[in-house]
Amino acid sequence: MSADPTATLNPAQLEAVHHLHGPCLVVAGAGSGKTRVITTKIARLLQAGYQAKNIAAITFTNKAAQEMRERAKGLVGARAAKDLAISTFHSLGVRLLREEGTRVGLKEQFSILDSDDVLGVLRDAGGTTDANMVKQWQWTISLWKNMGLNAEMALKAAKDEQERIAAVVMGRYQERLAAYQAVDFDDLISLPLKLLTDDAEARGKWQDKLRYVLVDEYQDTNSVQYELLKALVGERGMFTAVGDDDQSIYGWRGATIENLKRLPVDYPNLKIIPLEQNYRSTGAILRAANNVIETNPKLFQKKLWSEYGDGEPIALIEADGEEHEAERAVARIQAIRASLGAKVKFADFAILYRANHQARIFEQALRRAEIPYKVSGGQSFFDKSEIKDLCAWLRLLVNQDDDPAFLRAVTTPKRGIGHTTLGALSQFAGRWKISMYEALFSDSLSTVLNKKAIGSLHEFGRYLNDLEYRARHTEGAEDAKTLMLEWLKDIGYEQHLYDSDENEKAAAARWSNVLDFVDWVAKRCGGQLAQDGGTTFEEPKQTVLQVAQTISVILSLSERGEEQDQVILTTLHASKGLEWPHVFLAGVNEGLLPFKADDEEMTASRLEEERRLMYVGITRARTTLAVSTLRRRKKAREMVMGIPSRFIAEMRLHESGIKEDPREKLKRMREELAAKAAASAAAAAKQNER
Ligand code: ATP
Ligand code: MG
Repeated sequence: MSADPTATLNPAQLEAVHHLHGPCLVVAGAGSGKTRVITTKIARLLQAGYQAKNIAAITFTNKAAQEMRERAKGLVGARAAKDLAISTFHSLGVRLLREEGTRVGLKEQFSILDSDDVLGVLRDAGGTTDANMVKQWQWTISLWKNMGLNAEMALKAAKDEQERIAAVVMGRYQERLAAYQAVDFDDLISLPLKLLTDDAEARGKWQDKLRYVLVDEYQDTNSVQYELLKALVGERGMFTAVGDDDQSIYGWRGATIENLKRLPVDYPNLKIIPLEQNYRSTGAILRAANNVIETNPKLFQKKLWSEYGDGEPIALIEADGEEHEAERAVARIQAIRASLGAKVKFADFAILYRANHQARIFEQALRRAEIPYKVSGGQSFFDKSEIKDLCAWLRLLVNQDDDPAFLRAVTTPKRGIGHTTLGALSQFAGRWKISMYEALFSDSLSTVLNKKAIGSLHEFGRYLNDLEYRARHTEGAEDAKTLMLEWLKDIGYEQHLYDSDENEKAAAARWSNVLDFVDWVAKRCGGQLAQDGGTTFEEPKQTVLQVAQTISVILSLSERGEEQDQVILTTLHASKGLEWPHVFLAGVNEGLLPFKADDEEMTASRLEEERRLMYVGITRARTTLAVSTLRRRKKAREMVMGIPSRFIAEMRLHESGIKEDPREKLKRMREELAAKAAASAAAAAKQNER
């Protein structure tokens, strides 16, 4: 435990940390130490007599939560850090629903649907397979939920036929979720809010539990999250929120900057504290960031300054295409490592891009150069179909009424239960408003299915029950692993992988992912060893069923974040709050950043959000920043001319001097040399002629 966590803070940060007796808002630019204020304030609250379990810190991603826990550990020790409620809004919502779900009509064991599942349910609810339509519904319904609208309200407010249909589908969608005992991600916020609003007893209990709330990245909360926060802190208003209106980048998901404006209105005694010193970036980087964001209208006037010198000029890279750009990124990593020596780790580098699909080409180039990397933010591992298969099984163990999981598990691997059988079962279940699992054991199922089909279904159901029993009673890493391997053998999963993939190597890779997954689950069942100074203590072991229960949340909200020395590839959105010594900002082109879909009319507010994204990207860099633009780029399989993003001009790089790329320099020198050689050869030839 360090002596005084506040020792290095500046006066404004100190003021925020010591303001304990009323609501507090820190609004300040990137890298000014807002997150640092939160972690230090946790230590301060403990000093002031708060118990760790009464302090809740809310972050934007699970990764950020992990990092904050680590930082808190350093400040207050592992034992205290363990009790702190550090989580995302979503995980906090899960915790509330786990403990109180029955009060909002959920069974103790409910399922959390991921985005794929939601699409499945929506297809069913809307009676269509039109993928675009279904995606559109998903998006609209999510937005409505985040604005606090239910199906009825949405129907009333619908502006056109399309919205009316979406509202009707929403109603049916909600009915299905209720029948499946399932919630989607938006419900993880809106149901706890409903609970705290409608149920005074629950509200009192939770306000008593979470006596002080800290919120990071406050600018990206949406209205429902804001309401949840308000309900949690109640009249006491004991909270600290930190944020930066210039980094609000989730407007498309319903986040609203209004929440920043509402805060002083809802809490008249709100203490607003600005921070102005930046501790992250060099002068050149900070100036470019300030220049870009200056173009946007301002909610809060901010000026950021830094004590660090100008540092390296920003490198502007012009690449001939995506492959070339990736090579340049790799070359840059190698060059910086070569010039700065072994103390530079791979983990000091990040490649940032606007859209997920841009990652692939960088992955390939890094792989070729044998540079370890990790795609962060994307759920690449858990998105793999084999992992989703296994997760469907686990979810089904937790909640047999989870129909989407049931459908996936019963058909993977295939077990002689065909499409028609499942169709009949589903219809039967729909008619009686029961889940498919329940329907499977119904006596009157024989009215719609023959003996053989029912036999196969029963066999599946019995196996499931047996597995559930074993999962409920198995804990500890080793036993969990044994159980999972037995299960995979029982269902013939390895064979299934080889049967369904012609390419043996690909099947083997999938199987290896499966084994990784088994280890990962087993490790969680084993509990973890925590270090607190000299003493080591164990966290409790968990049963396979308990681990399965948390899995669907972990899936979409966290990463398999083992610390390793790897270059990070991530989207700009997922880079928020993080920092790296060396940042490569890829694809800074019109159309990509600012991103613009073909059929999209670029509105001023959309453009402003894209500009904030650029600002977030630039301000992730501590020491060096490369901004790369494509002269030519691929668009729908065609090569088109690349236009440098307007944001590059807005950076006003000439103010800090642009650094010539070493390769360009080499090329220029070669050309100059070749020209010289040609000239002297020509001169010599002339001489000879004479
Ligand atoms: P962002 O807006 O990007 O989330 P932030 O305002 O949360 O940034 P932090 O991540 O808290 O900023 O801090 C940026 C960097 O500056 C971190 O490396 C942090 O450790 C360091 N830092 C913060 N405050 C101080 C300080 N008073 N003295 C020295 N370093 C500091
Ligand atoms: Mg931060």
